[in-house]
Amino acid sequence: MSPVRIGLVGCVKSKRQHPSPARDMYTSPMFRGRMRAVELGCDTWFVLSAKHGLLDPSEVIEPYDVALKNLPSDARRAWSRKVLGALLDRFGDLSGKVFEIHAGSAYRDNGLVSGLKAAGATVENPTEGLNRGQQLAFYTGRPASSFKPVTRRRARPRASYGRIGETLNQGDEESVTVSFAKVEDILGRPLPASARKYAPWWGNTDLSPQGRGWLDYGWRVGQIRMVNEEVRFDRLSRHAGRAEERTRLHAANGEPPNGGRPTVRDDIQLENIHPIDLFTYRWPAATETFDRGWEATIVAGGARHLLRHGIGGRVVFGSWRPHTVTFLDGQPAVEAAAEDAYEQTRKLVSLIKGADRRDIQGVADLPAGYENFEIHRQKDAIDAPHARSSLVVRLTEDDLEGWARHALLRVALRRSGGGAGPATTTALPKSEPSQRPVVTQSPAGTIAIVAALLDHGALIAARPSGQPVSFTPSVEANQFVIDNQLAFLLAVICDQGIKAERAWAVPWELRHRLGHLDPYRLASEPENVVAAFCRRPMLHRLVNVVPAWIVDAARRVVAEYGGDAARIWAGRPSAVALQARLLAFEGIGQKKAAMAVEILERDLGVPISDLAGSDVAYDVHVRRVFLRTGLAEADDVGEMVADARMLNPDRPGSLDFPAWDIGRRWCRPVGPRCSECALSDVCPKLIDRADSVRGM
Ligand code: SF4
Repeated sequence: MSPVRIGLVGCVKSKRQHPSPARDMYTSPMFRGRMRAVELGCDTWFVLSAKHGLLDPSEVIEPYDVALKNLPSDARRAWSRKVLGALLDRFGDLSGKVFEIHAGSAYRDNGLVSGLKAAGATVENPTEGLNRGQQLAFYTGRPASSFKPVTRRRARPRASYGRIGETLNQGDEESVTVSFAKVEDILGRPLPASARKYAPWWGNTDLSPQGRGWLDYGWRVGQIRMVNEEVRFDRLSRHAGRAEERTRLHAANGEPPNGGRPTVRDDIQLENIHPIDLFTYRWPAATETFDRGWEATIVAGGARHLLRHGIGGRVVFGSWRPHTVTFLDGQPAVEAAAEDAYEQTRKLVSLIKGADRRDIQGVADLPAGYENFEIHRQKDAIDAPHARSSLVVRLTEDDLEGWARHALLRVALRRSGGGAGPATTTALPKSEPSQRPVVTQSPAGTIAIVAALLDHGALIAARPSGQPVSFTPSVEANQFVIDNQLAFLLAVICDQGIKAERAWAVPWELRHRLGHLDPYRLASEPENVVAAFCRRPMLHRLVNVVPAWIVDAARRVVAEYGGDAARIWAGRPSAVALQARLLAFEGIGQKKAAMAVEILERDLGVPISDLAGSDVAYDVHVRRVFLRTGLAEADDVGEMVADARMLNPDRPGSLDFPAWDIGRRWCRPVGPRCSECALSDVCPKLIDRADSVRGM
């Protein structure tokens, strides 16, 4: 019987900002990679926390800011004794057990390793001698600095590992099982110790030299038997063939398999691709944290969409799995969960839905546009009680083009609302002008409404020379948000649930109550911020959330922008990029981000490029006006944003301010004053359409 193997994983600085189980608290790629390694290779594992000592991964803890290496040596030794004591409490006799330590020297070298050895345990340090970058490559299969979508070129394999692929290609077999010893024969040297200990070493990633040694020659690792020391290599074409066999998709269409990669077509392009760090998304019942991801602009059918693909993890199908959400224009479009073989494949699966929002069960019902995806059944990819027999797309986590296409198709189908037809024609995103039956106005009527809106916008934006824009009646408060960049950001965050005029005065009043508006102090003195908000008269109606957003914003400004909020919009960012930066702040959603971009450029003269990527804000006043004028058919954020992009493609966001102003002045929820309205001559006055739009 093999000895009990216990994994110990050191904590890291990057953490969530709210209480979480220890396994979810730490967000860096290094920790996630270490966690995957011990989950795969050990019988059990624990977190080594600089603050708490030994932690069960499921134990819920608060965020903390303690680094073991920063503690004095006697405190580090005391910490080691505490961890040893906790291990003895849990296991009694440690002799004969193997401890695999995935942590820095501060965790190992202050008595923990020597104490374990003295107790008769064996201690292994799998990354001994590797620098930090090499460790990241070891754990993640790729260095952290190289997280990029798969659109990049592959590097050439290192010659020695390339011998594996060369040897495999000498035969005609579709699948070859070889022993580790045979691999060593091929290489002409021993495999590194990691290859025998850790299955992830055999990962199918083109960012490890060994992975390139088979991937670049048309092979992938299909199965690893660590106990038997055997690895099975499958030809990539055979792998695609198995997917075809499972679903009979390609046979049904009479098309050859394409190796599981979506075809990049001319009608969809990705621009401004850039990696993003940790971010959160608030679902109705919970907040999900994503460790990393990418953002890009999708150009499809003449329209532009903001794409965000977040990679995180959560309990899905009864166990913790990598989990992704792909957002389109700020709204979640598709979710995906890691398949069982994720450690080898890096692939996730995502349900395919029809226009009626139901799962697609059969190949014959597959919606158009999914022809070139790799299709499986969910239960074939995930062996869990609640896995469905429904069809799923199967994509690698970083296949940004594939996720973009899947998200566009899902949203287009959702909007179409009709039956899901078989894949006989190519589905295009609904934003393609020629296919959008959205605008019920005659073209001439629509053009007249848009022209009247833009005229009204120009009228209300015009100010006598030297007169500042007016956000709030108080002269001092108004000038403060114009002059102070952090005040502007905080005013945007506060603009919710109360009148705009009051919201934009909050930063001035907050400074008055605190005696400062210093981001460092706001970040480090949250209790003072809460007290200032709650003092009568309260600064905001939403005192349970807005003060936390203010503190979070200050912390983000300090951590990411060096304490200078102006850096958020410095460097002439594109409208899409600036919206993305703003969306990263707690309390800023699509509406506020779009509004802020418009105000910054239009009223405060901040240089912003590519305003074709600006958007209308999904605001109650804008919604009412868009619905009653017939510019939008449905009260849906994606729909309205897409409408504005089609109606005024050069600068969609310029429709926002006039619509907002008309909504506040004349197009009231009850009793709209149409006779006085600037759109009176051209508006069809579809009053009932906005019955469901409520709020300030
Ligand atoms: S107030 Fe009347 S005319 Fe003006 S936008 Fe609303 S419905 Fe149209």
